[in-house]
Order: sequence, then C-alpha cells, then structure tokens
Amino acid sequence: MLEECSLCGLCKANCPIFDVLLKETDSPRGKIFSLKKDVITEDVLEKCSLCNSCKLNCPVDIDLPSLIREARKKLLEEKESERNRKMINNIRKFGNPFGELQEGETPEELYCC
Ligand code: SF4
Ligand code: SF4
Repeated sequence: MLEECSLCGLCKANCPIFDVLLKETDSPRGKIFSLKKDVITEDVLEKCSLCNSCKLNCPVDIDLPSLIREARKKLLEEKESERNRKMINNIRKFGNPFGELQEGETPEELYCC
C-alpha cells in the first residue's frame, strides 16, 4: 500500500492534527514518508486521532489510519517484550520484578530459579 503513495500531499488538507501543529512530519504525508523509510517515531505515531479524514482526498486510497494502527501495535509488542525481558531478568537476579534488593538481603541469599 505504501508504495502507491505519490506523496502528493492532498491528504494534508483534511488533517486536524496538521491544522494545529503545521509541521510536515506530523502531517499525513509526513507520516507516510516516515513509514516508507521505516523511521517513524512513537511521538509522531501518537499525533493521529485516527479520524480517517486523510482518506477522503487520497487519489490512490491509501488507508493511513490502518497503517498507523499496525505501527502502534508493533511498537507496543516491542515495548512489551522488552519490559517482560527486564522483569524476568530481575526476578532471576533479585527475586522480585523491580530489580531491588530487599532489606538485609544480599544477592547470594536470593532464591534463583
Ligand atoms: S496518502 Fe494519498 S493523498 Fe496523501 S500524499 Fe499519499 S497519495 Fe497523496
Ligand atoms: S487519521 Fe490521522 S493522519 Fe489522517 S487525517 Fe486523521 S489525524 Fe490526520
């Protein structure tokens, strides 16, 4: 789908986020560009209300809201697995998910699975 975008910018006219922020990177076209280059950031992904307005003017029916939903899901999965990994390591190393020694404990006294 991304390949079909000609970066014409017609979608910018309907975007309420671009209307307020007036920043190309936050516009629908900017988001498409970042998605194409695989450099979209969490900050830019947050700046979309999924209102679907950008679809109205698009000559090639790019469904940017769906692409943003997918990118958010992927980001969440990556963050979740990183968080889980840290938690598991903390439980193994410190005996608790927070990575903290309890009062009076030394690492050697901790149960390790
Ligand atoms: S998403 Fe559609 S309207 Fe927006 S820049 Fe791409 S082709 Fe143009
Ligand atoms: S769906 Fe997102 S990018 Fe598209 S017009 Fe709405 S706020 Fe802008």
